[in-house]
Amino acid sequence: MNAILPKYSGLRELFSMIVVMERGATPDQIQHMVQRVESLGLKSHVIHGTERTVIAAIGEKRSETKEALASGPGVEDVVPILAPYKVASREVKKEPTQVVVGSLKVGAGAVGIIAGPCSVESEEQILKTAHAVKNAGATALRGGAFKPRTSPYSFQGMKEDGLKLLALAREQTGLAIVTEVMSTEDVELVARYADVLQVGARNMQNYRLLEAVGQARKPVLLKRGPSATMDELLLAAEYILNEGNPDVMLCERGIRTFEAHTRFTLPLASVPYLHHKTHLPIVVDPSHGTGHTYLVPDMAAASIAAGADGLILEVHPDPEQAMSDGYQSLNLPQFVETMAKCRAVAAALGRTI
Ligand code: PEP
Ligand code: MN
Repeated sequence: MNAILPKYSGLRELFSMIVVMERGATPDQIQHMVQRVESLGLKSHVIHGTERTVIAAIGEKRSETKEALASGPGVEDVVPILAPYKVASREVKKEPTQVVVGSLKVGAGAVGIIAGPCSVESEEQILKTAHAVKNAGATALRGGAFKPRTSPYSFQGMKEDGLKLLALAREQTGLAIVTEVMSTEDVELVARYADVLQVGARNMQNYRLLEAVGQARKPVLLKRGPSATMDELLLAAEYILNEGNPDVMLCERGIRTFEAHTRFTLPLASVPYLHHKTHLPIVVDPSHGTGHTYLVPDMAAASIAAGADGLILEVHPDPEQAMSDGYQSLNLPQFVETMAKCRAVAAALGRTI
């Protein structure tokens, strides 16, 4: 169970500290300090680590708060949380978060492979893909039913009919379903069918949508905006976490740069960087990150080498006929080859897929 902090709103000046308990602090002392934190009008969040327990204390700043906490029984130190994001930060939670939903397990040593078409197009297309990717080792099925398209004249997705086909594919294969939700009014509908709610790159800073998926009690795959900084991505995740939803996966899917040889530029340094800064699992999308099928297998393997906790890959039984993103989709044999490559890299690093 991933614990989370409650929501903070309307704070004038934020007090965000970690109360670090001594190594041998007793349960009574910890309980006492939780009550102290709350009696000072702050929200508390206890994290039991392998070495020691810490209590995150977040709320409105008052001048005497730090001293009041530092003198408590069993307290070793009270230190500020320096990152602009709090709940997502490694400072607050040292242990990596693992997101588990149905067949999909991501983070803390587990590598999840989410594969499937850019868009759900027909029953035959989604079922054929689902069975094939499952046989090749995928642990979740992706497929867009609500599609955010640059042009209003492009295929917009099958909407609820697409969600129904995804549910059918889950029934037949047991694969967890990852699908995008584009607006707050669709969250309830999409959450009825999906196992993981994807927030797309274009919506990373749609804060009302982030709050809505935070309230939806389903794991969220949050994609990095093409021009968002790492801090902005983590603060976007913070919106979801603050609603009480601990199951957030971050997705590096490439950013917009001056370089034009790929659709986006895929900066894989963000994987170890994010692991350093946050306990949340990191998924990489080499399909959108490169925009060319022939680049995807190598960048998928490179993502695993960089420490990714998961991959999201576009796979289509007949990419030439795809209604969206065929040029970056793997066909079924190419997906099998990509899995083999990723497994070899993982094995070399003592990980398993
Ligand atoms: C997608 O996953 O199909 C998609 C639209 O991705 P992104 O939001 O990263 O562009
Ligand atoms: Mn796509």
